[in-house]
Amino acid sequence: MVWKLPEPPANEAERLQVLAACNIMDTGRDERFERLTRLATRFYQADVAFIGLVDSGFQWMKSVNSEDIAPFIVREDSICNMIVQSGRPLVVGDLRTDPRLQGHPVVPRLSLRFYAGVPLVMEPNLVLGSMCVMRRDPGDEQAFDLTPLIELAAIAVDEIELWKLNFELTRLSRVDALTGLANRRGFDDALDRAVRRARRTEMPLSLLLIDIDHFKTLNDRLGHPAGDDVLRRLGGLLAGAVSRPYDAVCRYGGEEFAVVLPDTDAAGARHIGELVRRLLEQAAIPHPTQARVTASIGVATFAGRDASTAALVAAADSALYEAKHGGRDRVMAWQPPDDAGRRNLRLV
Ligand code: GH3
Ligand code: MG
Ligand code: MG
Repeated sequence: MVWKLPEPPANEAERLQVLAACNIMDTGRDERFERLTRLATRFYQADVAFIGLVDSGFQWMKSVNSEDIAPFIVREDSICNMIVQSGRPLVVGDLRTDPRLQGHPVVPRLSLRFYAGVPLVMEPNLVLGSMCVMRRDPGDEQAFDLTPLIELAAIAVDEIELWKLNFELTRLSRVDALTGLANRRGFDDALDRAVRRARRTEMPLSLLLIDIDHFKTLNDRLGHPAGDDVLRRLGGLLAGAVSRPYDAVCRYGGEEFAVVLPDTDAAGARHIGELVRRLLEQAAIPHPTQARVTASIGVATFAGRDASTAALVAAADSALYEAKHGGRDRVMAWQPPDDAGRRNLRLV
């Protein structure tokens, strides 16, 4: 028998989806996993222990306690990939002489000879990777007691499941239930990230604040459910108006929305503002005291080096205030004052 690249398991697509949902690949060292590899090393008097997660292209070591094993390797070179395929423990007394590994791309170069690994199984049968111990000297396959390694692997899986739940909760806590957009917390995160990015890249950063006109009247006359429906429709319309991967559309407050536009200059941001106004015009959503639902929009743009979250929000808010006082249903843009300190607001 010679080495043959293991086929992915039958449930590979679901396996990869769950791994992605964990958001754990390529994350740093974590004591919860280090503890387990330390215990495994000690118990088995091993030279190396590691917890490896196998995605479509790589095996990522969530925890590894020896320089002999790289933090990640390509999946084709991974021995643990055999465990992902079979879903069963694998013990190899001597990697150099075992017929199953003859012709393996890296095994002949390894300084480690003994290998024992068990699958990391998320119920019911998803094998996310493996937990392994290795020794420099060859050893006795038959005499190896797998039970403690299986127990440690089960603890590792419990930790991975908690990691996944935590990530889902964090995500959910940043979503607005009514519109499905990012909520205020999600907005704060997105704007924070965008400001840090703009400072690094020195690209302009824009922010739109959108406030529905005379929304209270609509709510009072047509009822809250009708108001909610308008909020959902505007949310959908905003999400459809922007398309770049880093753009963030958020429900900022009750009937106020925000759009964060990284790498977008003043002209680009005014264009999006005007597009939103026009889309809302075309949507012709009924309003009890106006021909249709309208919104006022404030736009702010800062050069990357001048960007700050507080300054952007204050500037967009002052532009929004001007849009309201200028007669609503319009887009106003704030711009940094010129050298003479003039003209820092303009009608789009
Ligand atoms: P303006 O043109 O000056 O913006 O007037 P407005 O009536 O839109 O402004 P105001 O801020 O006074 O009113 C906002 C209203 O938004 C108050 C509240 O009834 C409504 N609102 C806030 N959150 C929700 C929500 O989740 N659902 C619904 N249906 N209404 C909401
Ligand atoms: Mg308001
Ligand atoms: Mg309003």
